[in-house]
Amino acid sequence: MAIGVAVASFFNEAEEPARLHIERILQKLRKMAALVATQSGDLSDAEVEGSQIHRESGPVLKLRLQVEELLAQYPRPRRRLSLEGSGSEYVFETKEAEIADGLITLYDKGLLDRLRDCEGDRCGKCYFARPNQQRCSDRCRHKKIEQTEHFKSYRALYAKEQYWNAVSRGLRSEIKNLSRSREDHKTKAELEERRKAALEKAEAAKRKREQLKDGKP
Ligand SMILES: [Zn+2]
Repeated sequence: MAIGVAVASFFNEAEEPARLHIERILQKLRKMAALVATQSGDLSDAEVEGSQIHRESGPVLKLRLQVEELLAQYPRPRRRLSLEGSGSEYVFETKEAEIADGLITLYDKGLLDRLRDCEGDRCGKCYFARPNQQRCSDRCRHKKIEQTEHFKSYRALYAKEQYWNAVSRGLRSEIKNLSRSREDHKTKAELEERRKAALEKAEAAKRKREQLKDGKP
C-alpha cells in the first residue's frame, strides 16, 4: 500500500507544523474508527436500519465534522487527465495535502492500525506494517532477537551461579558436622576440595554474567 508507506515516511521526515497537523487528523480518525467499531457491535436490528444516523450520534458526529473541517483547510487537488482516458490522477498542491488525503484512504480501508511507531530500542520510527510485522526493519528486528538471546544467556549464567553457590553452602555445612576422627579428617579434605571447585564455578559464572551486563560478548 504505497500511500501507507508515504504517510509513514512523512511522519519521519516532515517538520512541524505540517507533521502536527497530520498527527491531529490521524488521532481523530483513529478515535472515530474505534468508536464506530464499538458502536456497530452494540446495534440491534432496528437500529441498523437507520444505522448511519445512530452511529453518527454524539461523539462520532463531532469527530467527523472536526476531521472534515481540518481537511477543508487544504486546497482541492487538481485533476491531471490521463491520455488513455482512464487513470486520471489527483494532483495535490502540497505534500501535506496529499498525506491528509492518504489518511482518509487508510481510514476507509481500515488500515490505520497498520501505521505504527517502531518499538525497537531507541528507534521510534513510524512505519507502515505488514500484518504481524513487529519492527520497522530487519535491522530493528535482529536487534530485538539479539537482546532476547542476550537476556537468556544472562539468566542462564545467573542460575548457574546460584546453583554452585548453593552446592558450596551444602558442602560447608557437611564439613562443619564432621568429627575430629582420622577418617573424617580425610573426608573433610575431599569435601573442601569439592567446595573450592564449586566456588570457582560460581565465580566464573558471575564474571561472565558481569561481562554480559557491560555489553561485552
Ligand atoms: Zn525500528
